[in-house]
Amino acid sequence: MNQPLPKIWNACLAFIKDNISDQAFNTWFTPIVPIKISDNVLTLQVPSKFFYEWLEEHYLDLLKSALNKELGPGAKLVYNIVMEKKSTQNPFTLNIPSASKGKLKTQEVVTPLNLEPSKVKNPFIVPGLQKIKVDAQLNPNYTFEHFIEGDHNRLARSAGMAIAQKPGGTSFNPLLIYGGVGLGKTHLANAIGLQVKELYPEKTVLYVSTEKFTQQFIDAVKSNNRNDFIHFYQMIDVLIVDDVQFLSGKSATQDVFFHIFNHLHQKGKQIILTSDKAPVDIQDMEQRLISRFKWGLSADLQIPDLETRKEILLHKTRQDGIEISEGILDYIAKTIVSNVRELEGALISIMAQSSLNKKEITLPLVEKTLSNFIDNAKKEISIDFIQKTVCQYFKIDMEVLQSQTRKRDIVQARQLSMYFAKKFTSASLASIGEKIGKRDHATVLHACKTVKNLSETDKNFKVYIEELDKKITS
Ligand code: ADP
Ligand code: MG
Repeated sequence: MNQPLPKIWNACLAFIKDNISDQAFNTWFTPIVPIKISDNVLTLQVPSKFFYEWLEEHYLDLLKSALNKELGPGAKLVYNIVMEKKSTQNPFTLNIPSASKGKLKTQEVVTPLNLEPSKVKNPFIVPGLQKIKVDAQLNPNYTFEHFIEGDHNRLARSAGMAIAQKPGGTSFNPLLIYGGVGLGKTHLANAIGLQVKELYPEKTVLYVSTEKFTQQFIDAVKSNNRNDFIHFYQMIDVLIVDDVQFLSGKSATQDVFFHIFNHLHQKGKQIILTSDKAPVDIQDMEQRLISRFKWGLSADLQIPDLETRKEILLHKTRQDGIEISEGILDYIAKTIVSNVRELEGALISIMAQSSLNKKEITLPLVEKTLSNFIDNAKKEISIDFIQKTVCQYFKIDMEVLQSQTRKRDIVQARQLSMYFAKKFTSASLASIGEKIGKRDHATVLHACKTVKNLSETDKNFKVYIEELDKKITS
């Protein structure tokens, strides 16, 4: 006797619910729609191919048990996969025999004509019949082998190596690597990913910049694929998100990231984050995210000391197959003290100079090349310098400029400082605001607009701007 479909499916759901977490249940089973049952074949409708593959990979045994329990050992399962916007007209069907012995396997899947790669929504998914593959998006050059160890990175580096041995299985989850630009955050995060791929080829690793993540999310929302976006990220075993400080001020993206983070963390998946600031210093970030960033280990990268800078240079020259005398390497390492990226940049300039002019790499050549380099570096204008210049120009104290006072002339000086900081530095609105009197990014944005408006309508103000511009850039 055939039992009614809802009753059977509800019984299956009750059994499933007992066996998995609420979150997994809500994510993967609530969206399933039972379609029909006939001759012991239950047809379920799932929202996407990805969804089907996820069920197959993670919950097939559970589904099988539920089905066998309700329908007996001869039960079969058929999925209807809803294709984008064509749902009912054009579903395609995959037959999954519910074998009574052993693990269920997908039969030769009949490739539906409408499953072209372009229809596969997630950009990382390489369409294939059997298993979804995710391109890890890692930089193959950023290995541990090429990541020189020093006092400045020892903790972060060894935590990274421990994680690579046991992704998700250490207390360093998440690992947050933070530090200034060019100190090796991206390199180290990639090295962990590469090592995991080597040790655990079956694990799904993904590197994504925060900007890319944000853009994908915006696109997904626009095209109504928010759930697919979330499901995609929730199936990653090792998720590396670079430069999370760029989540600052983006509350919808923070929200979705929060959910993905929780899901992965709960399932013991590894999360690796990088940031140019310590968690507490990240502006405009939800407190619940900041607190999660601190759950595992926050390890900072410092500027490498002289010996390590020399070692890095030596390693790079060997990697590129060039020879530079120790004295010269010593000179470069002593001259460039800011970060590893600058160090590399200096080395590249020297090599370029030498090969362009067909000259040997000598100390005079290096001195000349680096003097340009240092001049350029000096020309970089800091927010502090801008504030000082504005204060001198208007003869006011820096403290007053940064205070809460709303006196008109001080407000204008403050707004001008913000305007020039935006114009001459690459600092974010949030960090400009932070440095100029602890204001928020909206205040800075408003200041920039006001200065622009006044420059077009107020002649005196226009003169201030021109004169200050000259002082700052000369
Ligand atoms: P960040 O992400 O912190 O801005 P990157 O990871 O992009 O910095 O590093 C800048 C450059 O310096 C990269 O080319 C990287 O390979 C190199 N680098 C950084 N740290 C090291 C290190 N310890 N050993 C060798 N190269 C390094
Ligand atoms: Mg980086």
